[in-house]
Amino acid sequence: MSFKLKFWGVRGSIACPGASYVAFGGNTSCIEVSCGGQRIILDAGTGIRNLGHWLLKKNVHQATLLLSHTHWDHINGFPFFSPAFRPNRHFRIMAGHLNDKGGIKGVLSVQMANPTFPVPLSAMQGQLDFEDFHAGDRFNLDGGVRVTTVPLNHPDGATGYRIEYRGKSLCYVTDTEHVIGKPDQNILGLIQGADFVIYDSTYTDAEFPAKIGWGHSTWQEGVRLCRAADVKTLAIFHHDPEHEDLVMEAIESEARSIWPGALVARENIRVTLG
Ligand SMILES: [Zn+2]
Ligand SMILES: [Zn+2]
Repeated sequence: MSFKLKFWGVRGSIACPGASYVAFGGNTSCIEVSCGGQRIILDAGTGIRNLGHWLLKKNVHQATLLLSHTHWDHINGFPFFSPAFRPNRHFRIMAGHLNDKGGIKGVLSVQMANPTFPVPLSAMQGQLDFEDFHAGDRFNLDGGVRVTTVPLNHPDGATGYRIEYRGKSLCYVTDTEHVIGKPDQNILGLIQGADFVIYDSTYTDAEFPAKIGWGHSTWQEGVRLCRAADVKTLAIFHHDPEHEDLVMEAIESEARSIWPGALVARENIRVTLG
């Protein structure tokens, strides 16, 4: 049984199609994880539209959607997730930041409501099970998959995830803002010894001072955290829409020269963890 992932959307903030985004991709956050005989989907940004087509083609009937949070760039693809409109599909939809704020079903319903969207959530004919937990909880999924969560430092809250299967581990840490010179202890604990860490690298350290309070971090902070926590590979993720392909290529070569364990996430790349 393998442990694999595929990036369907790597961009932060807003989707940015166009000739300057072909190499790294313009869709917002969505990652498909396969392990323990099941599919886990990390976030429902615009990348989930293409994933939905793929799941239909592969006749996949169920999956668990783990949401980091519900800012637009992480849920805007959900109304275009075509398998959810099919009657014989089953999706478990989980979030950790809304337990005391009305819950995840309410937020996804409001997104698909008059006067901002024409098709209501109730038009989705699949079985959708909505579950709210507290960021910081641990739980198991089918097939021997363990999930650990932590709260992240982000406006309106966000949840970081560690997914473990057969001794391998994948962490998903977005969106989050660091404090200069004070490594986030929640994140260090979550990613300790992990094989693969996907981290909110919206800015560079040079850009960061002008963006304090916006809820994001830098690829250099990702390198510092991953080195401190003995992580094998860092995936630089949640790219700023202002960072066109040439900028991302420069970030990629600089990051690799500083730490060979770093890579820049590109739309459609696949990674095998075990
Ligand atoms: Zn975001
Ligand atoms: Zn956000």
